[in-house]
Amino acid sequence: MAVYNYDVVVLGSGPAGEGAAMNAAKAGRKVAMVDSRRQVGGNCTHLGTIPSKALRHSVKQIIQFNTNPMFRAIGEPRWFSFPDVLRSAERVIAKQVASRTSYYARNRVDVFFGTGSFEDEQTVSVVCANGAQERLVANQIVIATGSRPYRPVDIDFTHDRIYDSDTILGLTHTPRKIIIYGAGVIGCEYASIFSGLGVLVELVDTRDQLLSFLDSEISQALSYHFSNNNVMVRHTEEYERVEGMEHGVVLHLKSGKKIKGDALLWCNGRTGNTDRLGLENIGVKTNSRGQIDVDEAYRTSVPNIYGAGDVIGWPSLASAAYDQGRSASGSIVENGSWRFVNDVPTGIYTIPEISSLGKNESELTQAKVPYEVGKAFFKGMARAQISDEPVGMLKILFHRETLEVLGVHCFGDQASEIVHIGQAIMNQPGEQNTLKYFVNTTFNYPTMAEAYRVAAYDGLNRLF
Ligand SMILES: Cc1cc2nc3c(=O)[nH]c(=O)nc-3n(C[C@H](O)[C@H](O)[C@H](O)COP(=O)(O)OP(=O)(O)OC[C@H]3O[C@@H](n4cnc5c(N)ncnc54)[C@H](O)[C@@H]3O)c2cc1C
Repeated sequence: MAVYNYDVVVLGSGPAGEGAAMNAAKAGRKVAMVDSRRQVGGNCTHLGTIPSKALRHSVKQIIQFNTNPMFRAIGEPRWFSFPDVLRSAERVIAKQVASRTSYYARNRVDVFFGTGSFEDEQTVSVVCANGAQERLVANQIVIATGSRPYRPVDIDFTHDRIYDSDTILGLTHTPRKIIIYGAGVIGCEYASIFSGLGVLVELVDTRDQLLSFLDSEISQALSYHFSNNNVMVRHTEEYERVEGMEHGVVLHLKSGKKIKGDALLWCNGRTGNTDRLGLENIGVKTNSRGQIDVDEAYRTSVPNIYGAGDVIGWPSLASAAYDQGRSASGSIVENGSWRFVNDVPTGIYTIPEISSLGKNESELTQAKVPYEVGKAFFKGMARAQISDEPVGMLKILFHRETLEVLGVHCFGDQASEIVHIGQAIMNQPGEQNTLKYFVNTTFNYPTMAEAYRVAAYDGLNRLF
C-alpha cells in the first residue's frame, strides 16, 4: 500500500471540503482531498443544490413561456417532461465540476477518488473504486463528508415509484401526480419544480405551518401560491406506511387518510455521512442523526480532527458549509480567516423565491422590542412590472427609536439576491446600521434594490 504524507487531509469535496482545502493550500500547506465520488463537487454539485436550482431555473423559463402572452406569437404553451429539464441541469453540473476541478489543480491539492476512513488520529486509508488502497498520513484532518437523505427502514426505497431527493434525479418520466412527504425547504422546492411542470402535487407537512421558522406573513404567502398552483398542502400529518404498487403509490396517514399518486418523493430528514469513516478508531462520537459535534473552532473531540458542513448539523446549507470549511482551516493555519458561522441568511428557491435574515415579527414581539415595519410590494415597482414578476414583497423590520435594521424578509423573484443589500447594512457597526441608509442613498432605477427605499419610506411614515 502506498503511503503519502500531508499537512492537511480533507474528506469530502463538497463546499465545506473545498473551502477547507483551498484555505489550507493558500496558506502554504500540503493538502490532499479525498472523495468517494469520481468527480469533485460533493453532493452539493451532483445531487443537491446545483441540480435542484438548475431544474428550477428551467421550470421558471417554461412558466414564463407558457404564461407570457408575448410568446403566443411564436407558439402555443408547451409542456416539457422532467427528463427534458434534467438534461439542462446535467449541463450545469458538468460545468461546475470542470471549474471546481481546476481549483484543485491550480492550488496543487492532490485529489484521491475513494472512500476514506480513519485508521488512527493521523492516518486515513483510502479505498479506491478499482480496489487499490492508499494510506494518507496528516497532521490535521477535516471531516466534510456531508449528508444523505434519511431513509426509514419501513419504506421500500427500491420500489420504482418511491424516491428520495437523490434518486429523484433518475426519474425517467413525468408523473401526473406526485406525493411529497416532508414540507421542509427541499420538499417545498421540489413542490414548486413539479407544479411548474404541470404535475399535481400533494405536499404532506408534519407541522401546522409551512416552513415555520419564516416570518408568518411570508409562510402564508407561500401557502397561498402553492394552493393557487396545484399544490395541495396537508398539515399536521404523519405517515403510517407507504404502499408501493405496480400502477401507483399510496401514502397511508396516521390520521386515517390515504393519498394516491404516481410517485412519492420522500423529503423528511437527512443523515450525516459518518458510518463509513471508522470513527470508532479515533473515539469521535455521532448523534442519532449521524452528525458529529464540533466546538467554535470547528474542532471535534480529537484536537487535530475538524468537522464542517452538513456532517456537523445546523444549518446544513451549502452557503454556510463553504464558510465553515474555510474557518476550520483557518483554525488550523491561524491566518486570521477563522470565523464562527452563526449568521446565515435563509435562501429558499421555491417559486416565488424566499430569503430572509435577522429577526422575524413574532421573535421581536416576544422579546418586547419596539419595532416598526416597512414594506414594498413588487407589483408597484417598475422593474418588477418590466420583468413581469409582480408577485412579492420586501419587508424591513427596524427599531422604532434607533432605526436599527433588525430583520429583512423578502418573497418574490430574486429574493435571495435582494436580501444581501439589507445584510450589508445590518452588518455595519453601531449607528451605521440604520434604515436611513435606504432613504439617503440613490438607487439605480429601475431596479429591485429600489424596494429598500420604498420599504424604508413606508416604515418611516408609520413613526410618530
Ligand atoms: C435537494 C437539495 C437542495 C439544496 N439546495 C440548497 C440551496 O439552494 N442552497 C444551499 O445553501 N444549500 C442547499 N442544499 C444543501 C447543500 O447541498 C448542503 O448543505 C451541502 O451540499 C453540504 O456540503 P458539504 O460540503 O457538507 O457536503 P456534501 O456536498 O454533502 O459533499 C460531501 C462529499 O463527501 C463525500 N464522502 C462521503 N463519505 C466519504 C468518505 N468516507 N470518504 C470520502 N468522501 C466521502 C460524498 O461523496 C460527497 O461528495 C440542498 C440540499 C439538497 C439535498
